[in-house]
Formats: sequence, structure tokens, C-alpha cells
Amino acid sequence: MVFTTAENTADMVFDAGDYRDHEQVTFFSDDETGLEAIISIHDTTLGPSLGGTRILDYDTEADALTDVLRLSRAMTYKSAAADLNLGGGKAVIIGDPDDIKTEDLMRAYARAVDCLDGRYITSVDVNSGVEDMEIISEHTDYVVGTRDGLGDPSPVTAHGVLHGLKACVEHVYGTDTVSDVDVAVQGLGKVGHGLAERLAERGASVTVTDIDEEKVEAFTDEHDADSVAPDDIYDVDCDVFAPCAFGGAINDETIPHLSCDIVAGAANNILEDEQRHAGMLDDEDILYAPDYVINAGGIITVYHEYHDGTEQQAFEDAEAIGDRLLTMIERAEDEGTTVLDAANAYAEERIENEDRTTPARSW
Ligand code: NAD
Repeated sequence: MVFTTAENTADMVFDAGDYRDHEQVTFFSDDETGLEAIISIHDTTLGPSLGGTRILDYDTEADALTDVLRLSRAMTYKSAAADLNLGGGKAVIIGDPDDIKTEDLMRAYARAVDCLDGRYITSVDVNSGVEDMEIISEHTDYVVGTRDGLGDPSPVTAHGVLHGLKACVEHVYGTDTVSDVDVAVQGLGKVGHGLAERLAERGASVTVTDIDEEKVEAFTDEHDADSVAPDDIYDVDCDVFAPCAFGGAINDETIPHLSCDIVAGAANNILEDEQRHAGMLDDEDILYAPDYVINAGGIITVYHEYHDGTEQQAFEDAEAIGDRLLTMIERAEDEGTTVLDAANAYAEERIENEDRTTPARSW
């Protein structure tokens, strides 16, 4: 196996637009198995970097690098804003999983993770699952998401989104209940279904959509809820729009259709163009709950898994998302910024205020 540090590819890495003070970017290749992987550690000030391993057939190596640099940085912000003592990291294995994924390749990858000595902890992501983490765990301790772990984090994520959504409702309408609130939920997958169910159980008026009609039918059969066609969800006259299906749901095309006061959902990268679309929502007087703050239930779950904690602890921590989000909303109002800016500042201050002079970190 060949380990190549970023220094050898300085032109490609340090000049990359998304290279923003990443601590360590390591390239791994293994001739025998065909492994080509990049592990990016953005920041370990608050703790070891944690983030999933994505297996994708990128068009170019530069695309893979861009993706891993962006994703690892986003993990730093997500963990910091969730008050976790974790840093941000992410990994990509380059190639079509159907062609390249073998047990030997995953073993070679596990050795790569292990040689970073705990500075990076891996988990599941696009095209990597529990079985892969099981193989990795045979060769390194720095892995979560195995069969012995806390399992699917989606219920904790849905619980966290509910509490974040409640915080937004409290701020906008001055009520601590969702029973009088109309919510439009886009996507009835693992998180969206859990969120819609929790809302319906608490008396909210729920309108749902999904491209999978069976999911919609099953939900409306079981709950007192309306449904609309997927493209019509943006036009639903509601208090809260909850995107829980895919990234980029809020964009130039969809914003003019929105008829809500709050956007709060589970999807990652809800805003197609983060800063610009956060500003556009603000201009429309629509309160936006930053996705990485409100959907932190997943990272909270794996944090507890790594520290041998329980699912109960993860649920309790996910509830705290509500109060933290309120602090960010109030700060944004005081400082005249967007909530996204306030959330970013919250995460950055946690890192800046950490005492970097202590030689032995607790982790
Ligand atoms: P999922 O795949 O289980 O659910 C996605 C749902 O969206 C599916 O039911 C799918 O049919 C539906 N969908 C797809 N395209 C649609 C469209 N155009 N209109 C309406 N519905 C559509 O995924 P999930 O685990 O529920 O995650 C949902 C989002 O939340 C993703 O963006 C994910 O990255 C993010 N997220 C999930 C977790 C977690 O714990 N699962 C944690 C953090 C963030």
C-alpha cells in the first residue's frame, strides 16, 4: 500500500478552491485491490474527526478531492454546532461500488483508516453500509456503524428535527406546541416518515408527499393527513415546510413558490447555494433552520456509539437541538445576520475558544 501525503500533490490540493485550512489530507492506493481513497481531516480541535466513507464513481480525481474537502469541513461545523467533542473528517473511495467493492478492498481501506491512529473515525455513507463497517472493524477500532452499534440513527434524527422545528415555531408564533401548526413534509423516508408521524401524533396538520406513492398511501391511511403530488409541495400554504428528501430543495425556482414562515427539515444541503439562498429566505421573512444544526441526530448517535453510550442518551441530546437553535435564532436577530451565519459563528467560536495549548487532549 502506498501512502501519499498532501505535500506530494501540493499544487492540486493547496490550490483547490475548497482547501480551507484542512489539517491533513491523505491519499491511499493499493495495487492489489485497486483501492484509491482520500481521507480528509478538516479539524480535530474539539476531538477526533468523524465522518462517513463515501464510495462513488467520480468523473475525475479532482471531483473526488473537492467532495471530500467540502464534506469534511461540513462535519467540523456539524459536530461543533451540536456541542460534541468531535472534529470533522470524511473519506471517499473512488470507483463504482458494483465494480470495485470487495472484502479485500475494504480490508485495505481499514488499514488506511487505522494508520491515522484515531485522528479519523469512519462510518457509513453513500454506498457503504453496516457490512462494510463490520469488515473495517476487524482491522481498526476507529469505526462506528457496525452491527453491535446503536443501529439506524434516523429515529434520533427525526426526534432532533422535531425539536428544532418546535423551537422555530416557538420563536415565530410564541407557542410551545405544534398542535395548531400546518407542516408540509417533503419525503416520507426514514427521517421524513418519523418526523411526519411525530407531528401528526402531536396534533399538527400534516401534508405529505413522496415520489413513492405507496409510502404516501400508507401514511395517509394511518394518519389524519393530506397529500399532494411531489412537484406541488412547494405551493402548499403552510406554516412550516420540512424538506426531508434530497439536497437543493430550496433554490431560485422553488423559493418564489413557498408560502410558509419557516423552513426546517432533515435533508442535507437543503439550500442549493448556501449563502445566497439563506439570504433570499431571510428577505422573504422565512425563518430557515440550518440543516446541519437541525439534522444532527445522526452524528449525535454515532458519537454516543463511539463512547459506548446508549440510544436514550442520543435521544436526550437530540432534544437539546431546540434550545441551541433558539440561541442561534436570537443571536441572528440581535446581530442582524441570517441564522445560518449565527450557526456558523457558534461553531467557529467553539473551536476558537478551545484551549489548543493543552498537549494531551482528552480524546
Ligand atoms: P431516505 O432515502 O430514507 O428517504 C428519502 C425519501 O425521499 C424517500 O422516501 C424518497 O422516495 C423520497 N423522495 C425522493 N425524491 C423525492 C421527491 N422529488 N419528492 C418527494 N419525495 C422524494 O433518506 P433519509 O435517511 O430519510 O434522509 C433524508 C434526508 O435527510 C437526506 O438528505 C439525508 O442526507 C438527510 N439526513 C438523514 C439522516 C439520517 O439519520 N437518516 C441524518 C442527517 C441527514
